[in-house]
Formats: sequence, structure tokens, C-alpha cells
Amino acid sequence: MNNEKVLNIFRKANALLAGHFLLTSGKHSAIYLEKFAVLQDPKSTEKLCKQIAKHFKAKKVDVVLGAAIGGIILAYETAKQLGVRGIFMEREEGKLKLRRGFDIKEGERVLLVEDIVTTGGSVMELIEELKANYKCEIVGTGLLINRSGKDIDFGAGETYALARIDVTTYEEKDCPECKAGVPITKRGSKRIK
Ligand SMILES: [Zn+2]
Repeated sequence: MNNEKVLNIFRKANALLAGHFLLTSGKHSAIYLEKFAVLQDPKSTEKLCKQIAKHFKAKKVDVVLGAAIGGIILAYETAKQLGVRGIFMEREEGKLKLRRGFDIKEGERVLLVEDIVTTGGSVMELIEELKANYKCEIVGTGLLINRSGKDIDFGAGETYALARIDVTTYEEKDCPECKAGVPITKRGSKRIK
């Protein structure tokens, strides 16, 4: 699957929205990716995760790990494709942790999965938590879309993005839409076809 094919899955699902958005990272953007418009469709999710699984198959992954909430679905489906465990971290007192009896044993090979990466903050948090508290080996990170505007390397195994979309993001003080007095868009109100 090439870049265009992956982005087409997002377009067809109406997951690519136009407006004036406040992103989770705190930045502003004229484009928003509503990943759950895609993730609600098991067939699309399967297709995307299959590609991640195929890419990392030779790395002998023992467990696939995502960050709640999007990462739960991706970890499950990618793990299913690889025939291994799929687990997730979720926030406990603000920090991403393994809960619910999940564990990663010494020497296990961990593949991280993430949906849309803008700053990569949650993947970095997963890596920090693994390095601090688990003696595992991180084989890499598979992500659906890199929207950071540059190549990403998390510095723990290979970073692999199914697609890249170059969309300018702004700090609030530099945002042209803010300067023009355009209100923040309520998500889902406008769509790019
Ligand atoms: Zn703005």
C-alpha cells in the first residue's frame, strides 16, 4: 500500500476534515484527521494493520503495544495479524502505564503502534515507560500517518509510517485563522471530499 492508497482510505471514510482545529498537541491546523472515522471500520483497520504487521514480521515481535484509546484498536488488530499478544497503556495519574494485569517480560520484543503522529508525544511516553520499568527490546514503531511535516525517528528500533501528510500546524500566536478571527471548528462539521 503506498501513501496515496492509505490516504484514500482516510478520504473515503471522511476522516480528513477541513476547518480551524485545535489539535491534542495544542497546535492549530486547517486540517484535522478524525482517525476513528477509519478505525470504526474493521475492514479498513485490518488493511492498515496488515501492512504494519507485514513490515515488522521478520522482527519476531512478541507483543504489540499501543496507547489508549486509538492504540487499543491498532494493537489488537496488528497483534492478531502477527499471532501475538496485543496490549495497551493508559493514563494513571497522568502517566501512561500498563494496567489490567498486562505485563512485558524480560527480553520480550515489543512493537509499538500509533495512529496519527503530530509531535509523537505519546509514543515517546510509551518508550520512556518501557525503558524505565521493563527490560524488553523495542523493535520499532508502526504508525498510520505521519503528519509532523518531517521524517520521524523515535530512536528505538525502526519507525515506520504507512503514509505521510504534510499539513502546516501553527502555535496559537502564529495561526492565520486565529488572526483572521475564525472560530475553532467543532469537529465533523466540514469535510474534504
Ligand atoms: Zn488558530
